Amino acid sequence: MRSVDDLEVAGRRVLVRSDLNVPLEDGRITDDGRIRASAPTVSSLAERGARVVVCSHLGRPEGTVRPELSLRHVGERLSELLGRPVAVADDVVGESARRTVGGLGDGDVALLENLRFEPGETAGDDSFADSLASLADIYVGDAFGAAHRAHSSVTGVPARLPHAAGRLVLAELEVLRRLTTDPDRPYVVVLGGSKVSDKLGVIAALLARVDRLLIGGGMCFTFLAASGHDVGDSLLEGDQLETVRGFVDDARQRGVVLELPVDVVVATQVSADASTRVVDADAIPPGSKGLDIGPRTVARFSELLADACTVFWNGPMGVFELAPFAEGTRGVATAVAAVAGTSVVGGGDSAAAVRALGLDEASFTHISTGGGASLEYLEGRTLPGIAALED
Ligand code: ADP
Ligand code: MG
Repeated sequence: MRSVDDLEVAGRRVLVRSDLNVPLEDGRITDDGRIRASAPTVSSLAERGARVVVCSHLGRPEGTVRPELSLRHVGERLSELLGRPVAVADDVVGESARRTVGGLGDGDVALLENLRFEPGETAGDDSFADSLASLADIYVGDAFGAAHRAHSSVTGVPARLPHAAGRLVLAELEVLRRLTTDPDRPYVVVLGGSKVSDKLGVIAALLARVDRLLIGGGMCFTFLAASGHDVGDSLLEGDQLETVRGFVDDARQRGVVLELPVDVVVATQVSADASTRVVDADAIPPGSKGLDIGPRTVARFSELLADACTVFWNGPMGVFELAPFAEGTRGVATAVAAVAGTSVVGGGDSAAAVRALGLDEASFTHISTGGGASLEYLEGRTLPGIAALED
């Protein structure tokens, strides 16, 4: 795989597929982590005299123009981070995009509108890929967070243009390779988030590799239910009970420590002013929802993390967006940050949690910008967006 740093780019039009898919609240960017992670590739191209055309998706407009999902504000933030103007086009491959790209001088940066305003993007449509490719001479793939999608801008364009991997993609791959090739042991994985069904593949793959698997978040209730506990009104995926029992058996046979919460924070409402209670994990009252792991679980998980040499953490331990349910995530994140070896955070919400809870990003080895992509990589699947960058 060629690196962006090995390309001759002066005076050339370079299309950079970035992942600028940031969380928004009322049009405001609530976490700019992905924009910051994408800036180095763009800035190095501009410094070397390329005519840089950045493109990305934002949210799920599903092939129609949704003004609230415009990349305009993202372009403003990118411009601040780069310290240079970013010309934002009004469309993706239309009149405005062609005019904006045509107007670029060497070292200038443009941003196309949200790729998913075009139905051809997620459909992997050939004519859309042709139009996008016609805007540039060279393609740089830097959207690690979208690398597990065979979308036009991810796989179609590199099939049509000379291509290379961006700095972010290369950095992500280097860290994930460390987790899959001979990781230093003990290797501990912490999984949380909302749904176990999103993470079945990765759990199955990880059981063959890790020494300890710690389960929190919404998915722990399917595990607790599978071992016969009543989980009240907590998130429960009844159709996954058998699968989860299979995981528990597999862990036992392999000698993997599979740790579930021993206590949980419950409430009857998912709200910022909910009144909460800490109960034992096998005594969740009917009508209550488990919305965070409890303090004894945080202590236990922290103990199991303390001597780890490699840690991967994906998925918040509770509904961290609301203060009454944030302490479990804070506690586990703090324990992961304290690990002396390699510590990797994967997952959009987990990365956002690290920043929202005010933890020092520098105390982690790496905070991945890709949730689904990093999980699929750890599962051992080929990421189409990475394969497309290979020669
Ligand atoms: P990531 O993006 O890091 O991969 P997920 O998308 O899998 O994480 O899950 C994040 C979501 O899981 C958060 O919005 C959080 O509120 C939710 N969550 C965590 N614990 C629970 C719980 N006990 N009940 C309901 N939702 C939960
Ligand atoms: Mg998520």
